[in-house]
Amino acid sequence: MICNNLTVNGEGHLCLGGQDTVALAAQYGTPLYLLDEDRIRERCRTYMKAMHEAFGERALPLYAGKAASFKQIYRIMKEEGMGVDVVSSGEICTAVSVGFPMERAYFHSNNKTDADVAYAMEHGIGYFVVDNREELDAIEKEASARGITQKILLRLTPGIDPHTYEAIATGKVDSKFGSAIETGQADEITAYALSLAHIKLSGYHCHIGSQVFDSDTFLRAAAIMLEFANQMREKYGLVIDELDLGGGYGVRYLEEHPEIDIAANIIAVGLAVKAQCMMLQYPMPAVRMEPGRSIVADAGMTLYSVGTVKRIPGYKNYVSVDGGMTDNPRYALYQAPYTVLLANRANDKSERFQCSVVGRCCESGDILQEHVSLPANTARGDLLAVLTTGAYNYSMSSNYNRIPKPPVVMLKDGKSYVAVKRETYEDVCRNDI
Ligand SMILES: *Cc1c(COP(=O)(O)O)cnc(C)c1O
Repeated sequence: MICNNLTVNGEGHLCLGGQDTVALAAQYGTPLYLLDEDRIRERCRTYMKAMHEAFGERALPLYAGKAASFKQIYRIMKEEGMGVDVVSSGEICTAVSVGFPMERAYFHSNNKTDADVAYAMEHGIGYFVVDNREELDAIEKEASARGITQKILLRLTPGIDPHTYEAIATGKVDSKFGSAIETGQADEITAYALSLAHIKLSGYHCHIGSQVFDSDTFLRAAAIMLEFANQMREKYGLVIDELDLGGGYGVRYLEEHPEIDIAANIIAVGLAVKAQCMMLQYPMPAVRMEPGRSIVADAGMTLYSVGTVKRIPGYKNYVSVDGGMTDNPRYALYQAPYTVLLANRANDKSERFQCSVVGRCCESGDILQEHVSLPANTARGDLLAVLTTGAYNYSMSSNYNRIPKPPVVMLKDGKSYVAVKRETYEDVCRNDI
């Protein structure tokens, strides 16, 4: 199996965190999101421990809430001592509602409205991760009106494309996010931030990309960021207190994806950062990382009931399930790969067929996965599992076709509980006048 929290029991049923998915589907219905809380906490601890070891006690992992945002997740992050990265007032509201300590919250987004800026300050946001000059103006205005000094990080683009493995002068410099070091804009925005009376520039942020597997991406990003920080010290006397290296460690969706040793990777980044700080005689900043996917993805799984099997001889086969792009739009959006199997007969070695697993929406693009191998006798009533759906599934779900969203059921210590209720038809038309 692609992850060690997956097993098959004596009845041939797929288990997540040791719990029988067939029994869970019977108890909670389908479609159903499962999330293994024990796994999520284990991942938080891996980051926390490795970052402290690598960068010292001031280091802090920030959970990137956009991967999966609901109240219980923020309770868990609070208990684990994590920080969070939030990207909207809605995420701030969710975190605030469970008493998350907002001084450990970092507010991202390339376009924060004036209302967002005011909302975040009203709730005592720790940091704005500032994307652009308009945002600096908005923060200065709001902070000045409130008579406070607001801490910020500046988001920079160090010009690394994680998927070509090249440090390039153009490439990611043309990102919609942040200010490029290469073009001089990072320097300009630093000078501007330093000129504003109600803003404290605490440090720099970068986020290279997602599904990063190669170990030197973070090393190179850190090196470029520190080199730039050192230039800014020479030019403006600025010494940064924080360096945020963003998120992006990859997870295994398929057997052929590698498994990364996140702790070992972070330790390696730590050694390099320490060495460079020593060389530049730069005080070691408090390092932040922002893992989203690698905290929650493989804690998750989605269960569906098979409804119909359609064979078009000489063409293709379809297996339709009771969910689809409304609960997981990622294949439809960008052909995200997933491992798919029958949960009620996970060891079935009978003859197989190739099929497309599709959803129930009135939309040909409503595909969960293509080229899936399932038992040829797959039929209505079988339970189908899509693995590794803990990240960017619930958080990207919609009510297209007025389909209610599935519940999120969490697994902990051999027990299960509802963290997000299944939507009802009343919920779906709740705001209609
Ligand atoms: C999406 C994002 C993350 C999290 O990325 P993962 O690939 O889920 O780890 C972290 N920081 C920023 C700024 C992001 O946009």
